[in-house]
Amino acid sequence: MTRFFPAPTHSQPPQSFGTPEPEWLTWLASQSWPQVAFDIDRLVVVAAHPDDEILGAGGLVHAAAANGIEVVTICASDGHATHPGSPEQLANRRHLELDAASMLLGLDLPRWGGLHSGTLEQYPDRLDAMITDALDDRPGARNGLLAVWDHDGEADHEAVGQAAMRVAKPRGIQLWMYPIWLWYWAHPGDANVPWHRVQTIGVSPIVMAVKNAAARSFAEQKRPRNADDNPQPILGSSITSHLLRGTEYVFG
Ligand SMILES: [Zn+2]
Repeated sequence: MTRFFPAPTHSQPPQSFGTPEPEWLTWLASQSWPQVAFDIDRLVVVAAHPDDEILGAGGLVHAAAANGIEVVTICASDGHATHPGSPEQLANRRHLELDAASMLLGLDLPRWGGLHSGTLEQYPDRLDAMITDALDDRPGARNGLLAVWDHDGEADHEAVGQAAMRVAKPRGIQLWMYPIWLWYWAHPGDANVPWHRVQTIGVSPIVMAVKNAAARSFAEQKRPRNADDNPQPILGSSITSHLLRGTEYVFG
């Protein structure tokens, strides 16, 4: 499985890795991108971790719901391993936060896959079954699938993306994929990224408010609990700067 980005270290300042957000904004605005168009009546949304879909594609999900499309969200893991200490408390909190975000966006409560984060690539069959079950819930529906990108550079994200590909392809289902870590490890025009597949959608003020709350929670999870932890807050604040744009970019 491909890993694109280096682990941060105490000696490496945040400016020394990742593309600064102003550079992304300038380049993205200089390109012309088609908009997402919906030709479905049901959208199954798959996240590896709580809030992946809010941060990566909250605008698309909200727009789908606003267009009368039934949205079903699955979160494959419960966020247990986001940082050390009191995993049950953290998982409960992550559940409550994602439930609240879903309600604010007018969505049904998410389904939980119950796997532990950091382990998803060990359970391809479970991931396939989660997605298949959700798709089969309403026979005859014109389903679409939205999953985290299968080349995102993070093991859980790629496991979920690959499961979505396996399920969607033979069924001929419209599949959108949202990147998260791409904005951290890639650079504008990066040859590792299928830019020709990009579609865009705007982010409304309500979605932006929900995204801001999710971004704060995300950055908090990356905060070290003691001096020996990896300095993950650097990573947290670096990536969230890319996920709070007024436009979302997904692969169609
Ligand atoms: Zn994630």
